[in-house]
Amino acid sequence: SEALARAESLIVSIPDYPKPGIVFRDIAPLLADADALRATVDGLLEPFAGTFDVVAGIEARGFLLAGAAAIAAGVGLIPIRKAGKLPRPAASVSYTLEYADAAIEMHDDIAPGTRVLLLDDVLATGGTIAAAHTLVAEVGGIVTGTAVLLELDGLGGRSAVGDDNLHSLFHV
Ligand code: 5GP
Repeated sequence: SEALARAESLIVSIPDYPKPGIVFRDIAPLLADADALRATVDGLLEPFAGTFDVVAGIEARGFLLAGAAAIAAGVGLIPIRKAGKLPRPAASVSYTLEYADAAIEMHDDIAPGTRVLLLDDVLATGGTIAAAHTLVAEVGGIVTGTAVLLELDGLGGRSAVGDDNLHSLFHV
């Protein structure tokens, strides 16, 4: 659609951020545009209608999409947080980023078998989304879909995640 094409055009490439040689894809201009934001949220949800009970957004930019998507889909939202932020008993999964180790966490009180749609802004190497899959399984949920705004093709993220129900709205 026209709105989706416009949304894609509002993703800005920032050379040498956060370090030399990296091109960071900044989605803030897309989020700031009402029509682009609406089209993006609808596009993320479109393949998954009726297949999930809750959306889970990954800190921090996944939260921005998950809040809007939860309201649009009429479901609740679960935050998947960076380590050490959650106040109640939580599961934790560690993974390796390009230059560092990281961990993400999720409260462990969801109903067994809850169907989860994972949301994040960017799929790069796939480490974050793969860890989120492990995390949801660890707390007894089922990932029935994964949606990202932008997939960086050529970093192997899609095969690292190994999810047949991974939907990327845009590719670069
Ligand atoms: P991965 O674990 O797939 O290597 O990296 C994905 C995670 O890093 C996502 O949570 C995403 O927010 C962040 N990320 C990596 N590269 C970019 C980028 O170019 N732009 C944005 N907005 N996020 C990125």
